[in-house]
Formats: sequence, C-alpha cells, structure tokens
Amino acid sequence: MKLEGKVAIVTGAASGIGKAIAQRYAREGAKVAIADLDLNAAKAAATEIKSAGGEASGVAMDVTCEDAVNDGVAAVVAAYGGIDILVSNAGIQIVHPVEEFSYADWRKLIAIHLDGAFLTTRACLPHMYRAGGGSVIYMGSVHSKEGSVLKAPYVTAKHGLIGLAKVVAKEGAAHGVRANVICPGFVHTPLVDRQIPEQAKELGISEDDVIKKVMLKETVDGEFTTVEDVAEVALLFAAFPSNALTGQSLVVSHGWFMQ
Ligand code: NAD
Repeated sequence: MKLEGKVAIVTGAASGIGKAIAQRYAREGAKVAIADLDLNAAKAAATEIKSAGGEASGVAMDVTCEDAVNDGVAAVVAAYGGIDILVSNAGIQIVHPVEEFSYADWRKLIAIHLDGAFLTTRACLPHMYRAGGGSVIYMGSVHSKEGSVLKAPYVTAKHGLIGLAKVVAKEGAAHGVRANVICPGFVHTPLVDRQIPEQAKELGISEDDVIKKVMLKETVDGEFTTVEDVAEVALLFAAFPSNALTGQSLVVSHGWFMQ
C-alpha cells in the first residue's frame, strides 16, 4: 500500500485516464476525491471504487471556475482532513487548423488545461505546505514536447504545463512538495474516440488511417498507451519518497518521441 493514509484529488477522474489513476490510488490505500464537471459520472466512479473496497467520493468541479475549484478543494479538506496529492488531469480536445480556430475554442482549451492547472494547484498547495509535503502531477502529453497539426491551443497549453511544474517544483521544494508532468502518447479514451472522426474529417483520410498513420505511426510497436500505463506513472510520481524526482516530465508513449 504505497499511498496508505494519503488524500488525493484527481480532476477529470470520472472518465478515461483520470478514472484509472483514481482506481490505482485507491488500491494503494489513498482516499480519492474524484473531481469532475460531470458529478453523476464522478459519483458513479466513486461507487465503483467503494465496491472494490476503496475510499472515494465524487466532487462537482469545473476546473475553469475559481469559486468551484476553491469550494471543491475546501469540501475535500473538510471530508478527508487535507490534501497530499493533486492530479490536474481534466481536459478536452478540439481540432482545427490555426487559421480556422475560433477565439472562443482557443480560450476554452487554454482555460481547461492551463487555468485549471493553476487554480487547482493554488487551492491545494497551502494544504500540502501545512502538512509538510505533497505531490502535484500535471497531465501533459507527448504534445507537451512535440508539435502537431490541428492542435494549436492543446499543444500550447500542454507545453505550458511543463513551465508551471518547474515553478511549483522550485517553490514547493522547501515544503517537501514535488511537481511533475506525465506525457502520455495516444490512449484510447472517450476523448480520443471523439477526436478520431474529427481528425479524419479535417485531414480527409479514413478513421482507420487516423489511428494507424497518425496516432500510432511513431510508436515502436503500433500500440496505444493504456490508462493503466499512465496510472502506473502517476503512482510513481505520487509515492516517490523525496525531492529527488521533481520538475520532470516523463513520456509514456510506446516509444513515440524518444528524448
Ligand atoms: P476523457 O474525455 O476520457 O476524460 C476527461 C474528463 O475531464 C471527463 O470526465 C470530463 O468530464 C472532465 N472534464 C472536462 N472538462 C472539465 C472541466 N472544465 N472541469 C472538470 N472536469 C472536466 O479524456 P482522457 O483521454 O482521459 O484525458 C484526460 C487527460 O489526459 C486530458 O488532460 C488529456 O489532454 C490528457 N491526455 C490524453 C491523451 C489521450 O490520448 N487520451 C493523451 C495525452 C494526454
């Protein structure tokens, strides 16, 4: 039990990668707050964890809303007594060429990925500082390090998370707080399911070609990364015992983008 007695808040954990991280953390003994825009799905994910013998609760949170983030974090602290781990994971995808991106869609993506990371970090850090330690984990992407057609705001925001992690790592060190970024390759979640037809339309190719010739082309074995793979890295960052592992970004992608 690597996270016995720890409290974790995972945003966007009602689905996909965040849900797998919440499940993994709960299996390691953490109390997990599943913070999501979709409260019903968050509660359902918490129920699944509780049926498996873990401790979890669903929390309503729009990560782009300052009050909702502050209220959600306060509710988690009231319920569980503190926060040791934040996984800033909530995210969406919208694909268009730069010249066709509406400003509203640009703002929406930047708000969820960057404002959300800032607001949740700012709300959680004082509780970690008070406890004398903690781990902040940002869900980046291979697109935190590599460009892509059709994804200007997403790539820009995911690169930005690496900057934020470096600042939080430096400021948090004196308090025993680490900050790191996970950079997954393509993972077959609902987000990617929605993206495949949109990308096929934009590129004028089949959905099968989007998977084989775009998403998995650069991997060493043509495989999707799984939610469990990403959860394993999230556990490493959460449970690492010292400041030795901080300010880093780790790619988990079947070899796509080797550094
Ligand atoms: P998903 O669609 O399965 O889950 C995303 C969750 O975020 C949903 O439960 C949704 O309700 C929630 N959400 C959306 N907007 C929100 C908001 N404003 N406030 C709170 N919650 C909100 O997607 P996923 O693939 O699991 O993606 C999770 C994260 O992983 C995202 O940050 C994404 O960019 C990143 N990522 C995904 C992949 C991939 O291939 N799937 C690869 C690299 C990085």
